[in-house]
Amino acid sequence: MATETMDNRIALVTGASRGIGRAIALELAKAGHHVIAVARTQGGLEELDDEIQAAGGSATLVPMDLTDSPAIDRLGLTVYERYGRLDVLVGNAGVLGPLSPLGHVDPKRWDEVMRVNIDANWRLIRSFDPLLRQSPAGRAVFVTSGAAHKCRAYWGPYAVSKAALEVMVRTYAAENATTSNVRANLLNPGALRTRMRAQAMPGEDPMILKTPEDLAPFVLEMVAPEQSRTGLIYDFPTDEWLVPQMPLPEE
Ligand code: NAP
Repeated sequence: MATETMDNRIALVTGASRGIGRAIALELAKAGHHVIAVARTQGGLEELDDEIQAAGGSATLVPMDLTDSPAIDRLGLTVYERYGRLDVLVGNAGVLGPLSPLGHVDPKRWDEVMRVNIDANWRLIRSFDPLLRQSPAGRAVFVTSGAAHKCRAYWGPYAVSKAALEVMVRTYAAENATTSNVRANLLNPGALRTRMRAQAMPGEDPMILKTPEDLAPFVLEMVAPEQSRTGLIYDFPTDEWLVPQMPLPEE
């Protein structure tokens, strides 16, 4: 079994127990990254670890709930003490939340969507920005959704959380554009065959969809040291880097 060395790039992937995060974690590990795999479901993380080891890679499993902010801070300290840096951060974990009119959304479920989709990603930036800055080429990718741009009826909590995520990541990219080697981008995966997609579109035949494994090689390219774009959205359905735009009021 391979173990990590100082030459490995260190990559942290959230939501690595299944779906898109799992495929990204495996792809990064196969390409030689030491993967720090975060999610709540220990069994899913252990299955990922088996597959990474079978491919000759290495991983550290971190079963935790991302709504536990002090746990994110502790993880930052542990990674700092062990490696002194982080090379790749993939903020992928997310929840769909309720699909219902805004006025009918249970406040507890609203809070959960915001805590996972926004607050946890901010806490990750807060804890890991100093470590990304220690990397010769720190790369951060956060997973958004086309829903952020559609204002579609009944998708309120999810769409609001992803729109906020986009503004946060673009702001983070701007803060680093000229002051560090950190580059931060958004990823729009489009419709992929996962549990979340099945929850959102229960009537859909999942076999018509692309898979997280189809997407993963493109994420490997996004986090490569030679990839220097920042503050953009990589749109997997069109294979294009998009400049996010918001209509501005007349000055
Ligand atoms: P998924 O299969 O439901 O996986 C979600 C992942 O997030 C799981 O690994 C889950 O792990 C983790 N997670 C959720 N809540 C967590 C918490 N409180 N603490 C720690 N981990 C948590 O969904 P997916 O489709 O792969 O989605 C991944 C990302 O892609 C999400 O941000 C989603 O919004 C985005 N996206 C997906 C699609 C699509 O078509 N699939 C389209 C656009 C955007 P545990 O349950 O083990 O904690």
